[in-house]
Amino acid sequence: GQANIGVVGLAVMGSNLARNLASREGNTVAVYNRSSDKTEHLVQAHPEAGFAPAFSYEEFAANLQKPRAAIIMVKAGRPTDAVIDELVRVFEPGDIIVDGGNALFTDTIRREKAVRETGINFVGMGVSGGEEGALLGPSIMPGGSDESWVTLGPILKSIAAIAEGEPCVTHVGHDGAGHFVKMVHNGIEYADMQLIAEAYDLIRRGTGKSPAEIADIFAEWNRGELESYLIEITAEVLRQTDAATGRPLVDVIVDQAGAKGTGAWTVQTALSLGVPVSGIAEATFARSLSSHAEQREISGGLPGPSAEGDFAVDDADEFIEKIRLALWASKIVAYSQGFDEIRAGAAEYGWKIDLGAIAGIWRGGCIIRAQFLNRITEAYAETPDLAVLLTAPYFVEALERSQSAWRDVVATSARVGIPAPAFSSSLAYYDGLRAERLPAALIQGQRDFFGAHTYKRIDKPGTFHTLWSGDRSEIEAEDTH
Ligand code: NDP
Repeated sequence: GQANIGVVGLAVMGSNLARNLASREGNTVAVYNRSSDKTEHLVQAHPEAGFAPAFSYEEFAANLQKPRAAIIMVKAGRPTDAVIDELVRVFEPGDIIVDGGNALFTDTIRREKAVRETGINFVGMGVSGGEEGALLGPSIMPGGSDESWVTLGPILKSIAAIAEGEPCVTHVGHDGAGHFVKMVHNGIEYADMQLIAEAYDLIRRGTGKSPAEIADIFAEWNRGELESYLIEITAEVLRQTDAATGRPLVDVIVDQAGAKGTGAWTVQTALSLGVPVSGIAEATFARSLSSHAEQREISGGLPGPSAEGDFAVDDADEFIEKIRLALWASKIVAYSQGFDEIRAGAAEYGWKIDLGAIAGIWRGGCIIRAQFLNRITEAYAETPDLAVLLTAPYFVEALERSQSAWRDVVATSARVGIPAPAFSSSLAYYDGLRAERLPAALIQGQRDFFGAHTYKRIDKPGTFHTLWSGDRSEIEAEDTH
């Protein structure tokens, strides 16, 4: 075989990734798709790519140099397992199977274990950036063995997005680490988008500015510390006029947000790890709430302030600047929570993940790309075992500067009845972290009352229980928890 890399699955992501690979010096790309029409179409449409097409798995394996390396880009779930089975059948020990689909990391851990027993390497790889990223340079998050990285590293570096001269790919960690990090990336993306949406809503209803005017505000914000792809495209979306009606496009789009499930995965995983990713959770739930049309319909008449009427902002410019600061502070919280989840996942699954390097590979190619990720890389460079990202000096300064605005915006949203779930939950998380004492002490008391769950004391070691239904004296209890 003459090809040094293969792609299985030639729908939009797979064909674009294959074309990206083929466009790099020194690569010859073997391609295969279950239905032959996609293979034929790709090869005919892109003769310049010099693809090595195959119409059976045997032919595909024969087209690849040894050790073989192939990237699977098929529908995540059972199709991935079906393709893996076929590749295991035709590949040999030492070969590498890469799953570039959006797999759940626990599936990747399971697959890696099963494939490893055959002597073949399995790499779960997160790919971010959608169709365009796949074609022009995605952010790539590969897991798998160190041995696989030796072969794959140079190939992946050649196709990844470039940010400030560096390719947006790093060996994240073993087995499911890459897909885990990709999952959290998507969760952070949910939070970031929700925060931007809340900022837009407050400006619109608070100042009466038009979507086009708000587009200018976002474009302006994009020149400061909020600079990011998501802020940039927000301005583009808000500026768009609907050709059919002449109205702002955002006003004719149905206000029900869709989701493909990676936000929910991030939250479910965080729940089982005990990591409070409240911003991501609120963002995911906000999408759920928006899509319950029937519930919103019957709830429309519920009492509350009539937002527009009760929303008198004296100084629009000052209010908009406060929203910008609230967005900045809440965004810092969202990223801090996301990195907390990666840290906890690494500890739970035994991955060595360089958190600063993760921020580095998100600077290009992916949806959350932003200058600000450099500050995260710097924070971890300074303190590699930083337990709470937002306690790094740069972020503390930012939070100090924005917090009175942040509190004002959250208070205003509550007073006038405009939902800002991600703004307010981020602030509550921040205040929870800062609190010297939390009412968790009372919860421990309640738990001890109804379930004899015991508690610890602040003044001496040991585990204690109050005899609530007896004479209410305290006894030393066995530590059962
Ligand atoms: P789809 O998710 O729509 O999957 C279609 C491909 O899967 C086709 O090649 C199809 O082959 C193949 N397939 C489906 N079932 C089987 C099966 N049982 N056996 C073999 N092949 C099968 O394609 P996309 O290009 O949109 O995405 C590919 C992967 O990339 C997915 O896992 C997706 O989650 C992930 N991804 C997508 C992004 C995006 O922006 N779209 C971004 C990042 C990752 P056939 O032609 O024969 O039906």
